[in-house]
This record gives sequence, C-alpha cells and structure tokens, in this order.
Amino acid sequence: MWIFSKSGVGGPKRVKSGNAILSSYGTTIFEVMSRLAQEHDAVNLGQGFPDGNGPPDVVAAATDYLEHGLNQYPSMMGMPVLREAVAHNNKRFYGLDVEWRTEVMVTSGATEALAACLFGLIEPGDEVVLIEPLYDSYLPIVQRAGGVAKLVRLEPPDWALPVQALADAFSDRTKLILLNTPMNPCAKIFRRDELEIIAGLLQKHDALAVCDEVYEHLIFDGLPHVPLMTLPAMRDRCVRIGSAGKTFSLTGWKVGYITAPSHLLTPIARAHQFLTFTTPPNLQAAVAYGLAKDDSYFNNLAGDLQYLRDYLGDGLRDLGFEVLPCDGTYFITTDFRPLGFNGDDVEFCRHITTEAGVAAVPVSAFYQSGEVKYFARFCFCKEEASLSKALDRLRAHFRS
Ligand code: PMP
Ligand code: GLN
Repeated sequence: MWIFSKSGVGGPKRVKSGNAILSSYGTTIFEVMSRLAQEHDAVNLGQGFPDGNGPPDVVAAATDYLEHGLNQYPSMMGMPVLREAVAHNNKRFYGLDVEWRTEVMVTSGATEALAACLFGLIEPGDEVVLIEPLYDSYLPIVQRAGGVAKLVRLEPPDWALPVQALADAFSDRTKLILLNTPMNPCAKIFRRDELEIIAGLLQKHDALAVCDEVYEHLIFDGLPHVPLMTLPAMRDRCVRIGSAGKTFSLTGWKVGYITAPSHLLTPIARAHQFLTFTTPPNLQAAVAYGLAKDDSYFNNLAGDLQYLRDYLGDGLRDLGFEVLPCDGTYFITTDFRPLGFNGDDVEFCRHITTEAGVAAVPVSAFYQSGEVKYFARFCFCKEEASLSKALDRLRAHFRS
C-alpha cells in the first residue's frame, strides 16, 4: 500500500504506508460518536462507559497500592493475587475448578485478551466463526491473524440463533468460534439450549471457542449467566474472557483476565508477552481486592443497572421508540422508525447528537453489510440525572 507524503523537499513523495487490513477499517464508531458528542456537548449514550467513579473502596485500594510501592513490572502472566481471585470466582460463580498457576492470565483489558487469544490460536487460513452483530475489534484482528471469517447473522427484533446457518458456517477447517454472551450490542444472553448446539458443533468439527464474557455480571431479571465452558466436554475447548472494567464500572482501567486450559493458555501467553506483556500492578491488586467482595456487591451492580435499563427504556418507549428486550450488558437497542425519521441509523445517530444533544450508536456499525439500518443503541450505565437529561432533550426535539 502506498500514500503520497507532502513533507520533504521537492514536492509530494511516494512513501510506504500502513497495513492494508487495519487501515481499511478507519476509526471505530465508539471513538467517532464520542468525539461528535464532545463537539456538540451532547449527553453521551453512545460509547459504553459509566458516568460514575466506580466502587470507592476499589479505587482507594488502587491509590494505596500506587503510593506504597506497586509500581514496577509485574509477572507477564499477571500477579498471583489476581490470578488466584479469578480462579476462585470461577468456582464461586460457575462451579469451575481452575488452577490459577496454569489456567489464568491477566491482560490489559478484554480487548488485549481477545487479541492475544486470536493471535495465539489462529494459523493463517484457519476458519473462524463470528456472530453478527459483531463487537468492533473481532473481525480486524481475526483477519490480521490470517483467519478466514465465516459470518453468521442474528437479526432484530428477536436476535434468534439461525441454527442451520450456524451449522453451515462450520467445517473441518474451523479453528474456533468467537462467542459474546451477554452480547453487545443486542443485549442477548445465549440460552443453555443454544449453547448446547454450539457445543455439539465444536465437538463435531474439533473446534475451540473464545468466549467474550465481559458482561458476565451485568445480567437482569434473575437470569443466569452460563459460560460455554461449563457445558459437558467444553472445559478443554473453551477460553473465557472477563473484564474488571465492566465488573467494577471502571472501564478506563483496562484490566482483563483469561481462564483457559493450559494447552490453550500457553500459546495465548506467547502472544500476550509480545503485545502488552503486563498490566499496571496497583490496578491488578485492586481488582483482586474487588473480586473478593461478597455476593451483595455483584447483585447490587446488576440491580442498579436493571433500574437504569428500565428508566431509560420506559422513557424511550414513551417517546415512540420501539424498545427491544434487554437481558444484560450496558445497552438498549431501539427501532426508531415509529418516530418517522427520514434516514438510516447512521444519519439518525448523527442527527440526534448534533440536533438534540444526545449521542447513540448505529447498530449497522456492528454488521459488515445488510439490512439492519433502523436501530440505534443507547447506553444506560449512567447517572439517573444524565438519562433524565437525555430524555428531556429527545422529548424537546421530537415533540417540537
Ligand atoms: N468485548 C465486548 C463485547 C465489549 O463490549 C468490550 C468493551 N466494552 C470489550 C470486549 C472490551 O473490554 P475492555 O475495556 O476490558 O478491553
Ligand atoms: N465496549 C464499548 C462499547 O461497546 C466501547 C469500548 C471501546 O470504545 N473500545 O461501547
């Protein structure tokens, strides 16, 4: 790939440019919408991050560790105290027996965990099954790792798993499926019967699963989170990814963790050692402290978010949006056609950001192509006052 540089003597000069796969993606929708929100002083219900400052005791622990000497490179695999806490919570929440020394690794956020898994597991030419709507980092990294993506689509309003299309996407060249449950942006939780279908395909084709479970504790209405790893015969085929950013409402910390059988964690660690190698030690130790909190913390986290989901959902419904069911995550998906807006989701999200002062994310950004063009994703992990302000602004705009 070539570009023309304006710098230097003697006019434009031909210089080599960046990697074609990554360059072809442009800037992610989250960054684009957050910049636009800032420019227009909009209430940002686009990119998924909480308003607040996280649990004060977890933040205080991080401050304390920073001041009292946890400031040098920790081990590449992560600090033992955090790896033990992750292993312990695998048992506590899902009944999984995990050996922390060989089966847990700390990463710089789930994003880096995903990259380490994909670079560590994929050989050029391997097929990788991906389910749309897709979180933004999946496809570029699969492609950069040399994988061949096989896309399967879930569609609104029910986001049902197309069982035949899924089976057709698998072949004996399939290396792995990337599964996100609870799923961003559609707030779907994969039910046990759906997971059983996936487990059957993994066995049939001798394939692996990388399970992005960053929203594992953000599930509503008493529904259970079922890691694919807990199903029969799945313990050795699955990699589970968690994120302290979500579990402690501290998205900027970028602390993630991987649980995997040692034969998979070893190649993943080989990739991780050349990506970030390690993660700030005070944050690791503070997350270990947080993971040891009692059940009331995890229940209240989900309960508080459920309240905010209902608050925003009721308000949007009252404005005329069709609000789709939301079983987990930070996000509500809406069909805005009943409002009579003349344009697609990208135009709608830009319009409400610049004209109403409320940012959202177009759901088409999570697809490679196709007809899902009239859905907007709103983030509800905000103070009630921010949601109320957003609803007031939308009301004033659409009712004027
Ligand atoms: N996976 C999904 C589905 C996400 O929504 C996000 C971000 N919110 C991530 C991974 C990345 O998590 P982290 O911030 O820990 O890198
Ligand atoms: N996961 C967040 C979202 O879906 C964004 C994270 C990011 O910006 N990379 O909005």
